[in-house]
Amino acid sequence: MERLKGKNVLITGASSGIGQAVAVRFAKEGANIAINYYRGAEGAEATRQQAAAARQSEGRQVVMQADVSDETQVKAMFDSFINEFGSIDVLINNAGIQKPSHSHEMSTADFDRILGVNLRGPFLCAREALGYFLKQGRGGAIINNSSVHEIIPKPKYLSYSITKGGLENLTRTLALEYAGQGIRVNSVAPGAIVTPINLAWINDEKARAGVESHIPMGRAGASEEIAAVFAFLASDEASYITGQTIFACGGLTLFPEFRSAWASGE
Ligand code: NAD
Repeated sequence: MERLKGKNVLITGASSGIGQAVAVRFAKEGANIAINYYRGAEGAEATRQQAAAARQSEGRQVVMQADVSDETQVKAMFDSFINEFGSIDVLINNAGIQKPSHSHEMSTADFDRILGVNLRGPFLCAREALGYFLKQGRGGAIINNSSVHEIIPKPKYLSYSITKGGLENLTRTLALEYAGQGIRVNSVAPGAIVTPINLAWINDEKARAGVESHIPMGRAGASEEIAAVFAFLASDEASYITGQTIFACGGLTLFPEFRSAWASGE
C-alpha cells in the first residue's frame, strides 16, 4: 500500500522513537522524506537507512539538522527542503522533550526550553509550511505529535503538560483558519510508548509493570502503532478530517479507575 506516493514530507525529531517509525512508515508508503534531528546524527542516519530499506518503489530520504525552537535554523531547514524536493505536502511536528521537576522548583530555563521545543517549534515549522502550502495552491497537511497529557494532567511535568494542551489549540485554530485552502491540521496523542523518552521505565521490569497496570489494554504501545495513525492522517483517506486529535493510548484516556463501578458501590 503506497498511500503517500510522491508526497514530500518533513518529519521533525526523526532520529529516534516515534519520529523514526513515522519516517520508515512514510517511506514504505511511497513518500519522499526529510529526517530532521537536533543531536544524534547517527540516529538520523539509522533512520535514513531503515527508511531506504523499507521503500517499495523510488523515492528519496534526506537528513536535515536543525533545532526546531530556533527561528533562523527552521527557516534554513525549509529552504533546504524546498531546494531538495521543490515543494512540501506534509509537515510532521514530532520533536518533543520533557524533564521531571516539582513545579515549585522548576527552573525558568527548563520551562522555557521545553516550551521552545514542544510549542514554539511546531509554531515555527507550521508557519513555514503554511506559507509554502498557500504559495503552491494545492493544500497540505500538518500533523502534530501531542500526548494523552493534552488532557490528562501530569504532575512534575508542568511545562510538558502545558505544551501538549497548547498543541490542541494550535491544531484547532490552524485547522479552522486554513480549512478553506485545503489545508488539514490534526494531532496524534500517544499514550505510553516504548521509546527513548521513557528510558526511566521501559527496561525496568518492575517499573514497566507499574506503568502497564494503569493501561486498560494492559501494555505499552509500539512506535509503529503510532506511525500508522500519522500515515492515515497524512493520506487522502483522511481527506475530510481536520482539527482533530486522535488518541492512540490503549484506553488511557478512558478514566481507567472506573473499570469497576466503585463510585456506585457495585
Ligand atoms: P524520543 O526522545 O525518541 O524522540 C524525541 C525526538 O525529538 C528525538 O529525535 C530528539 O532528537 C528530537 N528533538 C529534541 N529536541 C529537538 C530540537 N530542539 N529540535 C529538533 N529535534 C529535537 O521520544 P519519542 O517518544 O519518540 O517522542 C516523540 C514525540 O512523541 C514527542 O513530541 C513526545 O512528546 C511524543 N510522545 C511520546 C510518548 C511516549 O510515550 N513515548 C507519549 C506521548 C507523546
